Amino acid sequence: MSETKTALVTGANKGIGYEIAAGLGALGYRVGVGARDRVRRESAVEKLRAAGVDAFAVPLDVTGDRSVTDAAALVEREAGRLDVLVNNAGISGDMGPDWVQDPTTLDLGLVRTVVETNVLGVIRVTNAMLPLLRRSASPRIVNISSGVGSLTRQADPDIRIGPVMAAYAPSKTFLNAVTVQYARQFAGTDILVNAACPGLVATDFTGFQGPRTPEQGAATAIRLATLLDGGPTGSFFEDDGVVPW
Ligand code: NAP
Repeated sequence: MSETKTALVTGANKGIGYEIAAGLGALGYRVGVGARDRVRRESAVEKLRAAGVDAFAVPLDVTGDRSVTDAAALVEREAGRLDVLVNNAGISGDMGPDWVQDPTTLDLGLVRTVVETNVLGVIRVTNAMLPLLRRSASPRIVNISSGVGSLTRQADPDIRIGPVMAAYAPSKTFLNAVTVQYARQFAGTDILVNAACPGLVATDFTGFQGPRTPEQGAATAIRLATLLDGGPTGSFFEDDGVVPW
């Protein structure tokens, strides 16, 4: 089995995903740059290669069955196995002019779109990549969640972070719950699966508002992607430690 480990990062063409790819690449991982747009994908691969990363392009729309199946076949041809999967691709869904998703007037189509990407997309990609992950000695899966997915924080009037986001926040709570179910299913194996909160990061997603850089936002995911055997699984982490469910 090749010594070089291979990682796949979804939504790696920009923002936090790009920095996760760059960080894993700097640690010596071969990195599949999962991205749906050809131009953005190729430009990210070029930029990573220029920085010395062994990167390869993986056309990938997490909402498409065929796209995801094809991506798994490509990773198999390129690397034969997968050591790390980072499910980073995510969307907020339309926030409207007031930057809010009001539950009392929520468009159900918006909820479906957000869940399709943020939750079903993760399940779709994870299950397609699982046969390749099982060929790794130490498979790691990291799901990029958000602090707004923490029910404890959302329900606490003293914490209550961010605006009301009735589609996006519950999609990350759903993702957290799914992460726990994967961890339960993988109990007793070497597959570790965790959720990561990047903090409030200045990316396209936040209109480039937020105190943290994409590189800072990538740090917890990189740590979870490189956990030693016997490390935590089925948990939710940020820089400072565990995030309450
Ligand atoms: P971003 O800059 O908007 O990047 C999002 C990435 O996801 C882009 O590469 C985007 O690709 C990709 N993506 C969206 N839908 C996709 C699909 N159907 N298939 C494949 N790729 C898709 O946002 P970001 O801030 O880096 O966010 C990355 C992750 O962190 C998300 O899961 C987000 O929920 C989470 N997060 C962000 C923050 C924050 O403060 N920024 C906080 C907490 C959690 P395109 O370029 O093609 O659109």
